[in-house]
Amino acid sequence: MAVDATQPYDDQNVFAKILRGEIPSKKIYEDDVAFAFHDINPQAPTHILVIPKGAYVSWDDFSARASDAEIAGFARAVGRVAREAGLVEPGYRLLANTGPDSHQEVAHLHVHIFAGKPLGPMLAR
Ligand code: AMP
Repeated sequence: MAVDATQPYDDQNVFAKILRGEIPSKKIYEDDVAFAFHDINPQAPTHILVIPKGAYVSWDDFSARASDAEIAGFARAVGRVAREAGLVEPGYRLLANTGPDSHQEVAHLHVHIFAGKPLGPMLAR
């Protein structure tokens, strides 16, 4: 079901459970503010999710409430994960679905990193 990005944070969402180690994930990277893992249902040859460790529903929530250190650390983590995966030279796409029209499904901010082939048009037509 699509997420209402204005709703309060629900700590029973699947990514909160991954952060607490209650369900498994294929971890790629972790630091003080960010955690990266492989998407369970990849939409491209490389499909990585990067999430903040803080409790933020969406990009809207994160950009409004997170500290400057969290925002800077998270942006650096996304870049580092892509760089260390060798994606800079071939290129990659970032996506952060926010709210119903975007079809956000998990109510914890996540940035998708897509790569590994020419990714086609920016949006489905
Ligand atoms: P979105 O539609 O932007 O909210 O994307 C949610 C993403 O989370 C989808 O690409 C799912 O495949 C992915 N996903 C859901 N559950 C898991 C999980 N347990 N481990 C890894 N990825 C997941």
